[in-house]
Amino acid sequence: MRYLSQTGMGTYERCPQKWKLHYIDGHPTKPNRFLNLGSAVHAALEAFYQGRIAEPAKLDEMIAAFEAELEPAAYANAEESAAARADGLRMIRAFHAAHAPQFRPALLVEDLLRFELDGVPVVAKIDRVDKLDGTVRIVDYKSGFRPPRLDEVRQSEQLTLYQVAVERVLGLEVAAVGLYHVPSQTLFEVPAHGPERVEALRRRVLRVARGIEQADFEPRPGRHCSWCDFRESCPAWAHEYPENWEQTPLPPTPSHAEASRLADRFGELKDRIRDLESELADFRAPLEEFFRITGERVAAGDRYAVRATPGLGYRFDDAALRALLEPAGLWEKVLVPDWRAEESLLADPDVPAEIRARMERLAQVEEGWTFRYGPAAAAQADSRRSGHGEE
Ligand code: SF4
Repeated sequence: MRYLSQTGMGTYERCPQKWKLHYIDGHPTKPNRFLNLGSAVHAALEAFYQGRIAEPAKLDEMIAAFEAELEPAAYANAEESAAARADGLRMIRAFHAAHAPQFRPALLVEDLLRFELDGVPVVAKIDRVDKLDGTVRIVDYKSGFRPPRLDEVRQSEQLTLYQVAVERVLGLEVAAVGLYHVPSQTLFEVPAHGPERVEALRRRVLRVARGIEQADFEPRPGRHCSWCDFRESCPAWAHEYPENWEQTPLPPTPSHAEASRLADRFGELKDRIRDLESELADFRAPLEEFFRITGERVAAGDRYAVRATPGLGYRFDDAALRALLEPAGLWEKVLVPDWRAEESLLADPDVPAEIRARMERLAQVEEGWTFRYGPAAAAQADSRRSGHGEE
């Protein structure tokens, strides 16, 4: 059984056929202006916190992460794309102005937590987890125009799922959950969801898992079909697209000789992929060096451009860290299943300053890079539009 996510369950509940067309048949979703703007703003907010202990990302780093995620194909025309870009930049600047002066590092940012609920595999992708006094708060970003109501926060199935994920996977106590409305820079926060919401989540997960297991993929046509990406492949709309539903004869079963030929070809292609992956890895190091030394974030060729987004990570020598933390009774704190536990400790004002200073001396700060690539022409157009040389 595949992992169920909040998005996947929501899709199945709205229309099981849509879930099948996407998750089983592999029909891709089309770029969409609302989703694209939302994910570009999320990328900027992720950059603000990701790997940051003492101070957040600079505004231009947030903007670079935002620009890298913008997808011109998601917008009907250049005006719409420019308007979305302006909206996004406005939100990002306001976010930086509101949060950079009193920066508090996040415990987790954009993390995937996997667990099982009554035997059903579930995955939660959480925007942010904040450390409170011995407890944590879960925050999900909303970049839509309308601010959420507190009742929505209290009843959000998504937040219940994230809360259960944090409690089960990380063993942390969740004190509060909230939706952060980015356009108004407002956090709508309520206490952690109670057992009745957790029970409702359990029933929901089981209901969706049972439907999928029983191959219940009935189309549920309705108003939502107007913006469904898979309408042309949906049996409920077959009458509108008869050409898509004409029977095509099944291909003949391959003979043994043909299967041998296919096996050879399969192996050859796999070998080529392995060689190409190794060649790709050889290109990565010098490109990283270029971005690191020059401070630039785009390298453009005649046909393609590569955009790089930097991030920082800390690495410790386990034995040295243990020798420092164990006598202070802090070693247990980094044994939790949280890959950023050491960074949290570094930012924890309750940890004596002397210990934090010694930890900082032990830490090896490592740079990491995310690469994205696209047509060189798009990078040049972005550069002209934004009016600055780097992007
Ligand atoms: S077109 Fe409507 S009925 Fe068909 S998959 Fe999409 S949402 Fe479901």
